[in-house]
Amino acid sequence: MSQNVAPEKGQISIHTENIFPIIKKWLYSEKEIFLRELISNAVDAIHKLQNINLMEGLQISDHFQVRINIDKEAGTLTVSDNGIGMTADEVRKYINQVAFSSAEDFVERFKGMENKNEIIGHFGLGFYSSFMVADQVQIRTRSYQEGTPAAQWTCDGSTSYELVESERQGRGTDIILHLGDEAAEFLEEAKVREIVTRYCRFMPVEIALKDEVINDTAPLWTRSASELSDEDYKAFHAKLYPMAEEPLFWIHLNIDFPFHLKGVLYFPKLTTEFDATKCNIKLFCNQVFVSDNCPELLPEFLLPLQGCLDAPDLPLNVSRSYLQNEPQVRKIREVISSRIAGKIVELSKKDREGYTKIWEDIHTFIKFGAMQEDKFYDKVKDHLIFRSSNNEEFTTLPEYLERAKASHENKVYYANDEATQAPYLRLFATQGIEVLVLDALIDTHFTQFLEMKNSDMKFLRVDSDLAEGMINDDAAKKIVEGSDEKTREDEIREALEAQLDTKGLSVRVENLKDETVSGIILLSEQTRRMKDMTRMMGRGATDLFDDHTLLVNSNSPVVKSLLRMQEGGRQEEAALLAHQIYDLAMLSQKSFDKDRMEAFLARSNKIMALVNS
Ligand code: ADP
Repeated sequence: MSQNVAPEKGQISIHTENIFPIIKKWLYSEKEIFLRELISNAVDAIHKLQNINLMEGLQISDHFQVRINIDKEAGTLTVSDNGIGMTADEVRKYINQVAFSSAEDFVERFKGMENKNEIIGHFGLGFYSSFMVADQVQIRTRSYQEGTPAAQWTCDGSTSYELVESERQGRGTDIILHLGDEAAEFLEEAKVREIVTRYCRFMPVEIALKDEVINDTAPLWTRSASELSDEDYKAFHAKLYPMAEEPLFWIHLNIDFPFHLKGVLYFPKLTTEFDATKCNIKLFCNQVFVSDNCPELLPEFLLPLQGCLDAPDLPLNVSRSYLQNEPQVRKIREVISSRIAGKIVELSKKDREGYTKIWEDIHTFIKFGAMQEDKFYDKVKDHLIFRSSNNEEFTTLPEYLERAKASHENKVYYANDEATQAPYLRLFATQGIEVLVLDALIDTHFTQFLEMKNSDMKFLRVDSDLAEGMINDDAAKKIVEGSDEKTREDEIREALEAQLDTKGLSVRVENLKDETVSGIILLSEQTRRMKDMTRMMGRGATDLFDDHTLLVNSNSPVVKSLLRMQEGGRQEEAALLAHQIYDLAMLSQKSFDKDRMEAFLARSNKIMALVNS
């Protein structure tokens, strides 16, 4: 039974007259999305046919493909599919009504919005967006239903259209855009290729431009992780970011409940050009590219992540501020954060060596995440690693504390500048006390955070006090005969105090096991932290050395000879040694100003001259 399409001209009934100029103005900078919308419709039409095929057992076998053709002479760009097609009635219904009213909805929805760039990917404008570029749009279509005539619909973006019977032979739809001079760029193959690659690169149906298929219909995230190798993941990353280095690790999301979310996210090797405020994830909706500017989808500390997320349930025709507060988006952030935490635990357990290698690149983000999110912290806390003074190896805190149990329970000794703190590190090393190196910018905050989370854990910098076992217990301080109840330590202290008249300095004398150290400066951990903080907040220039202790080692031969000189009345030489001991200790704490440096050098030369004589 073959019907005919009687030619008709008609009016499309819409409420908003001329929505077209409004949309055109809004989307001026993104008018190229029309191609995404048309190709999406073509892909949908093919999917619909495939579904009917399955359900009704029609056994239509075909090579399903969307084809894009450019005819420069005719000035047309055509998007064709061999999908479900439309009857004349369906054109009246879907194009005259659905397409126009969805465009109308779109305009209504965003009417009051000031900043149109706020709209996510300008998604859902649909077929009507073709009028952003075309002076006239023609549809030639034939339904899959046997015996229905093909129809041709023509419209110039006003509310009047023309519908006639068409010559089209095969099933499917051609959308023919007649482009004027203003839109001539869309007749350039390179331009069309660029747009299709941007938006349709991973669409699930073949897209051919000039007989060449230019998309990947089964991108990595649609495949099962079990069938993919590391090389597949790396190759996909290289395809997405051709200039980038190999990623450090990745996660593959494939969630069906309670919402749909697929994706592959990479933790990249960061370069110095890394912009911490920019989001690098590409957002897709059923393999259709939506946007690459959706920081809302990631927890803040994971902004460096790269890769693709396919979130078909997201309401995409909404504004950014809406998206930020959308419960589903919060869920997505939680899922990503939890999966990254899981990956960290897995790497630390399964491949400690590999994990140690990438730690330098990732630790700042992991620590930042731990401070931002309790759940993340709870998952990763036993897998945070720190470089130890023991053979440069990395250790977790539980491992460190277990080893420290016998000698310094719950205390974590750390250095934050290995070069200047070398004398202290030596002192700790000779006593076999393990020290962690916490020299990253974030570590000051992070150690305080860890102390807050673990009330009995204490972080002590190597110069804050002597550790257990450094002092010679068997050399108990003895009263020196005929000396007014004074110990030798008292005498040394007095000798130094007599020579060094420095504001804020107090002298403490101990008999250290390590005799190679003559003196070191001690700064109480709490006072130092307070002062560091006031300095960081820019509140006045508090001097770190307003209060400090010079710890002098009574076991050092230098100190012993200083005492002998003092007692023997060799004041000048005693003064030389006292100042030298103090300056050497101070060198690990700060750089000298000009005067102090000159004095130090002159004194060093004098002492060398004494050795010579
Ligand atoms: P949406 O795709 O969001 O429904 P559109 O304005 O893009 O809105 O399209 C309106 C309707 O027109 C579609 O729902 C579909 O029924 C029909 N349509 C559009 N393009 C095609 C096509 N290439 N093949 C078959 N039907 C189509």
